[in-house]
Amino acid sequence: ISYSASNGWHDARVLPYGSISLDPAAMVLHYGQAIFEGLKAYRQPDGTIASFRPDANAERFRSSARRIAMAELPEELFLASLTELLSVDHAWVPQPGGEESLYLRPYMFSSEAGLGVRPANEYQYLLIASPAGAYFKAGVKPVSVWLSTEYVRAVRGGTGAAKFAGNYAASLLAQAQAAEQGCDQVVWLDAIERKYIEEMGGMNLFFVYGSGADARLVTPELSGSLLPGITRESLIHLAEDAGIPVEERKISVDEVESGVRSGGITEIFACGTAAVITPVGRVKHTGGEYTVANGEPGEVTMALRDTLTGIQRGTFTDTRGWMQKLY
Ligand code: PMP
Repeated sequence: ISYSASNGWHDARVLPYGSISLDPAAMVLHYGQAIFEGLKAYRQPDGTIASFRPDANAERFRSSARRIAMAELPEELFLASLTELLSVDHAWVPQPGGEESLYLRPYMFSSEAGLGVRPANEYQYLLIASPAGAYFKAGVKPVSVWLSTEYVRAVRGGTGAAKFAGNYAASLLAQAQAAEQGCDQVVWLDAIERKYIEEMGGMNLFFVYGSGADARLVTPELSGSLLPGITRESLIHLAEDAGIPVEERKISVDEVESGVRSGGITEIFACGTAAVITPVGRVKHTGGEYTVANGEPGEVTMALRDTLTGIQRGTFTDTRGWMQKLY
């Protein structure tokens, strides 16, 4: 779908997958106005195709657009684009029963040709899709994380709360550093004190204190510099439904380390659209490393994972009406 300041949103069309052409002066190539979203289409037991809270993705897409001074795509066009694409490509959505889905990637960039630094007057919104296999092919396996003190992902007042392409470019070096340290993922700390946990590469984090009926969750508060994950927000509700209290607050690196060492913190997990929930089994930083409990997926982690994946695949009652039929 195209946008111009004079015509608004216009010219919605579905095209075969292929190259697109851009003016060499397209402003996105110079000043980087580019945002995206990520969501999954799941085939339901009745054969329809649904997605998890796509209205929340539409809203975050508008809020990301506002942050970098782009035109906002109305929710109805965002949702209609998902349905339009699925109406031609629904065969790619796997049959129910497995962990597979069709990943949907809506994105938008400034396409106006111009060399002055200012918000563009023309944008292109596109949607592509790609089959997504099971994130964990051989059962859920905990990841190891590297706490990045050298680089930060976002500063308060910056673009960290937007799903802005540049945030991901800025993360690549830190992710490479995590890999050099033998870790699967980078974990970001706050930019000012490098003391508080923010989020993981493409996922938000939760810390489980206690176990059984005494379990409670702590997740970093939305500081303005971390992405407000839709999975994060949904899990806060699901945990509360399950009688597990949730605190959104600052949590320091020291609190995590002493909590894990004393056994007060029993599980750590990350959450996001791609993997839904991933246990964190090992934490490494410049001062050393430690294993979370026995390094295996924890009970609370797996119970929340089963509930959420059950809702998404239509095998659990969706009491909040989160699943929206797209086709
Ligand atoms: N943080 C970052 C930086 C991300 O890219 C993502 C993935 N969108 C998340 C958190 C998790 O967000 P969601 O649950 O909406 O997928």
